[in-house]
Amino acid sequence: MSSSHQISAIRQQLDHIDHDLTKQLIARFQSIQSILHAKQGLDWPARDHGREAQILQGIQALAEQENVDPSPIVRLFKTIMQESVKLQKKARGHAPSPQTLPPSLSEALEKKSYKLASRLNHIEDSLVSVNEVVIGGDHRTVIAGPCAVESEGQIMECAAQAKQQGAHILRGGCFKPRSSPYSFQGMGVEGLKLLENAGKEYGLPVVTEVMAIDQVEVVAKHSDLLQVGARNMQNFDLLRALGKAGKPVVLKRGLMATIDEWLSSAEYVMAHGNRDVILCERGIRSFDQSTRNTLDISAVPVVKERSHLPVIVDPSHAAGKWQYILDLSRASFAVGAHGIMIEIHPKPEEALSDGPQSLKFDRFEALMLAVSPWL
Ligand code: PEP
Ligand code: MN
Repeated sequence: MSSSHQISAIRQQLDHIDHDLTKQLIARFQSIQSILHAKQGLDWPARDHGREAQILQGIQALAEQENVDPSPIVRLFKTIMQESVKLQKKARGHAPSPQTLPPSLSEALEKKSYKLASRLNHIEDSLVSVNEVVIGGDHRTVIAGPCAVESEGQIMECAAQAKQQGAHILRGGCFKPRSSPYSFQGMGVEGLKLLENAGKEYGLPVVTEVMAIDQVEVVAKHSDLLQVGARNMQNFDLLRALGKAGKPVVLKRGLMATIDEWLSSAEYVMAHGNRDVILCERGIRSFDQSTRNTLDISAVPVVKERSHLPVIVDPSHAAGKWQYILDLSRASFAVGAHGIMIEIHPKPEEALSDGPQSLKFDRFEALMLAVSPWL
């Protein structure tokens, strides 16, 4: 057969496949209509992340069984699911959300030391925008980058990798809260500029830690999102100053802080003028030394019940060992976190801080594939 005949034969085959695919898609959308009908009158959300993840894991396994790269197929199915969710939301007008909280929860929340951060004040999930990236609600976000900015080459490599693997925000510490005064303290303002440039180069917003009031202005000038580290969660003067910083804040949970203390710290930032606060669970101190900290995964649903603020998880600082980061990332999304923060490094063995918990790029790629059903 000549090659032009061969091509038209294959095209005919493709036409048949497309025809079948279209019919199957129509059948799928019709089933969505039936689900919509069945959900009528029930307080059932349009989106079920757990179920979506399960379906996508099944698709991934099937592709792998056939020795086919699962990534493009998973991406296509995500689009199909997004369209199904849109269809459901459109048919409903707006997704119904409860207008009141159960009386027992309302009563418990009345007694808390935070108000603006409380679900009582804002029953819907609040959304925090970091440039074009929206965090909270139905959005799922990945923040990735090195523990610390170490050089132009290192942060550029990390930014390229973060972008290539589909992360949404680039991280990199410039003012580092190190336990020892003799450890690397960060590149300071020079690092901020390198981070900002790397973010611009790859179209990623950036986040970095601010440790002191006199750093707020310069950090807010170069960074899109301001991080309060675990050790500063109850630095109330810093929190007050961040109320006026004009940039969103990610507030890490203190090493020994209760969930209510953490929410009260968020309240400081909010009460002083900044409603854009994202909470970050990063592990708490416990008796067990097997991991650097103990990831309090249950903090996620507790926070989501008590507060409307987005809550993300940093498994890197919780585990302290790269080996556990992938599973803990999956667990974070499974439990309902709005995002994860992951440390990566081109050569973790040479990192100036937190090398043992930093992922090499191929391991980060594997992590992104593992969590892709949620993204
Ligand atoms: C960090 O994210 O770089 C960091 C120092 O984290 P934490 O404050 O949670 O220890
Ligand atoms: Mn670190």
